[in-house]
This record gives sequence, structure tokens and C-alpha cells, in this order.
Amino acid sequence: MGSEYRQLNIFFFPFPAHGHIIPIVDMAKLFASRDVKATIITTPLNASHISKTIGKAQAPGTGNSIHVQTIRFSSAEAGLPEGCENIDAISSPDMLPNFFKAIGLLQEPLEQLLEQHHPHCLIADMFFPWATDSANKFGIPRLVFHGTGFFSLCAFESMRLYEPHKNVSSDDETFLIPNFPGDMKMTRMQMPTFEDTNMIRFMKSVRESELKSYGVIVNSFYELEQVYADHYSKVHGRKAWHIGPLSLCNGDIEEKAARGKESAIDENECLKWLDSKETNSVVYVCFGSISNFTESQLKEIAVGLEASGQHFIWVVKRSKEDEEWLPEGFEKRMEGRGLIIRGWAPQVLILHHHAVGGFVTHCGWNSTLEGVSAGVPMVTWPVAAEQFYNEKLLTEVLKIGVPVGVKKWARMVGDYINWQAIERAVNRIMKGEEAEEMRNRAKELSQMARRAVEKGESSYSDLTAFIEELSSC
Ligand code: UDP
Repeated sequence: MGSEYRQLNIFFFPFPAHGHIIPIVDMAKLFASRDVKATIITTPLNASHISKTIGKAQAPGTGNSIHVQTIRFSSAEAGLPEGCENIDAISSPDMLPNFFKAIGLLQEPLEQLLEQHHPHCLIADMFFPWATDSANKFGIPRLVFHGTGFFSLCAFESMRLYEPHKNVSSDDETFLIPNFPGDMKMTRMQMPTFEDTNMIRFMKSVRESELKSYGVIVNSFYELEQVYADHYSKVHGRKAWHIGPLSLCNGDIEEKAARGKESAIDENECLKWLDSKETNSVVYVCFGSISNFTESQLKEIAVGLEASGQHFIWVVKRSKEDEEWLPEGFEKRMEGRGLIIRGWAPQVLILHHHAVGGFVTHCGWNSTLEGVSAGVPMVTWPVAAEQFYNEKLLTEVLKIGVPVGVKKWARMVGDYINWQAIERAVNRIMKGEEAEEMRNRAKELSQMARRAVEKGESSYSDLTAFIEELSSC
């Protein structure tokens, strides 16, 4: 990059949830590696995770320029307990309206920073619909980051425009997504149930803000979602740059292990455990940063994993004191075969180990793309958000996934799945001819992903194009 671009100064503003912060921090690192001054705007409690994650990239003398700037999160004014600054601190969906009230209160401090520093652009999460107007006030272009891929962006847009779900008579009757590449069937059960009028209004403002914005930054790569990337820009008229997979900007063990929260397991201990296993012999089970399953569902997963006969790493968001869900003697019987991580796992580090041959995922977009980048077949277990669309991409388009059989959208707690279905799906991705075929396809996609971020290739070039366009603005 020539020296004429050195002065570019970009503000990154992630929504306070790990699934949104992690890719934005990776993005800031990526921009910083291309000589852009990157400033991440966040709240004090989230800043501590972020500082740990960017560690090396902000070290003086590295040549990279990445900063964290904090703004106050008004928990008390919004009726939230002190210290509740991240979605993962929310214990019940009833607290979501308060959380979004606190999100709205971030507008003023953000505007003060924009006025003071006048960055060349603001890349802000979709959940800050007012950010386009805030940036416009100071003549700053605002870019939207949705945190998902082109497939679901196109699906959302078609659903919003044509409302096909209104033409079916029951929740389980299928309908086709109109004006969408390929025949994609959905049911009403797989869609969010936004009965709350405030939420409906909020989602409308998200769309309007996107339409008024300068464009969209997407964590994906062209070769993965070519048809949908083209559809998004040519049919829906969006200006979008694909610059992912962002997780691939983490090269070494330390960087991979530092993403997100403090790991509940020492990374070397985790690697040692994996080193003792054969290639493609371990299935990794993790449902992201928010999903929280009931005790009976966790028990069912335990029984299913045991019955599958496979080696596994299972991430459970429960503490050692809370063991009601664990079948009698489970860990003793699984010694050497199964590892339970209680809390946060170094996911990308685990997925990239050669011993990992499959991934049971809730289909959050980061996890989906991390699974693709690691080249592993997946058992798809969507819970909420756009995860049912991501499931369809994995199972019906890319054909590297097997559905566990979830039928119904749920906000945080998933649809109930019995152990037999879990055992069946895990074995389908781990052994036999079908598993081998899926693994071969997944490995090819993983190679494409790595290539996309290399110098001169699709994601690298799109980032260059974005930086050049902004520099010439
Ligand atoms: N993650 C992790 N360790 C965990 C749980 C999650 O590193 O124990 C990371 C995962 O690698 C991904 C992000 O958290 O980058 C979760 O994002 P995703 O979109 O998959 O799901 P969400 O948490 O938003 O539902």
C-alpha cells in the first residue's frame, strides 16, 4: 500500500455481544495490518476483553496502529444491573428491552467522539440504526456490519420485501423464499417471532439505516457465496465489500487462543489433549456465546455423544458447581475420550487442529465461517437469529452439513433434540462414505478461504478497493 493511504483513520463500533465484537476486532486488526489507523469504540467492561485480544497488534513499535476508546454504558439509567454491558450478562430475554435502551444511550457519547476526532469513516454494527445519521451529521460515511453472510442477507431482504410467510396457513407449512437464487424452502417456525412492536420498529429502523448508509462490510469470501454476493449487489442494489474470513487474520497459537473471553482451559493443555488423538477423530461441540440449553437437553447431548463412540470436545456454558445435567459417572467413563470445557473455549485454535474432524454448531455466522475455514463437516443445530438460513447454506448449498433436526426458532434456549438424533448426526459427519465426501468438499472450501485472504486474491483485493475508494473520497 502506498504512503498516500497511511493517514486513513477508521472508527469501529461493535455491538456489545461476543459474536459481534470478535469479528469487528479481527477486522480492526486486518485494517491495521494495511496501514490504517483503527480505533475500536466500546464500553469499559468490553474494552478489557478487546485489549487482551488485540494484545500484540497494539504493542508499541509493531508498526500497527490500533486503539481502544471507551464510552460509558448507562446500565443503571436503562434499568440494568451494574456491570451488565454485554449480551452474555443478560440472564433472561425480558431484559433485552433494557439492554437496547442502554444501546440507544450510546449515541450521544459516540457523536462526541466523532465530532472530536473526525475519522474518515465509521464501521458500525447493524444494531446501531442511528449510527448512519450520527455519522452524517459530521459528513462521515457510515458502513454497516451485520455479522452475517450474503446468503442470509439476501434471504432477509426477500422475506422483508415479499413476506411469503403471510401466505401460508400454518406454522409448519413450507413456502419458497421469493426472488432468491435457487429454491429455498422455509417454514414460519424457523423465523423470529417478533411480537413486540418495539422490536419490529427497531428492525425496520435497522433496514432504513442500512439503505441510507455508504455500504456494507461482509465477513465472507466471494468464492463461498458468489451467487448471493452478486444477487445482493445487483438485485438488491447494495454496495458491499467481502473481506473475510476475518478469523484467518489470527496467525499464531497465541492470537487464536486470545479471541473473545478468557479461556476456561489452558491452550497448551487443550493442544496436548488434541495432539494425543488421530487426525479427524474428534468432534467439537459448541453453541456459540449466547445459546443456553436446558439441563435435560444437556443430558441428552451427553448421552448422544457417549452413544456415538466418537472422541469429543464439548463446550458447556455451566460452572463446575452446576452439575445437575451431567449423567452419573459420565466424565469418568469418558476419560481420554471426551473433554468438557466449562465456559469459554479457544474455538478457532481447536477447529484448526488436525485431530478435529467435525463440528456440532448452532450455525452462528462466525462459527459457520470458522468451520468452513477449518475444513470440517458440521452438524447443524440452529437456535435463533439468522441461524436457520446459515443451516440451509451448509446443508443444501455447500453440502458440508447434516441437520440435527431442529424445527423451531427460539430466542436463547433451543428446540429439544433427543440423544438418538444427536448420535445419528454425529456419526454421519464422522464416519463412512458420506462423511468422507463432505470432508473433501469442506477441505476444498477451506483452501479457497485461505487463498481468498492472500495478497491479490478476492478478499484481499476487495479490502484494497475499499481502502482506495475511501482514501479518494
Ligand atoms: N467462541 C469462542 N469460544 C466459545 C464460544 C464462542 O471462541 O466458547 C467464539 C466463536 O469462535 C465465534 C464467536 O465466539 O467467533 C461466536 O459467534 P457466532 O456468530 O458463532 O455465535 P453467537 O455467539 O453470536 O451466537
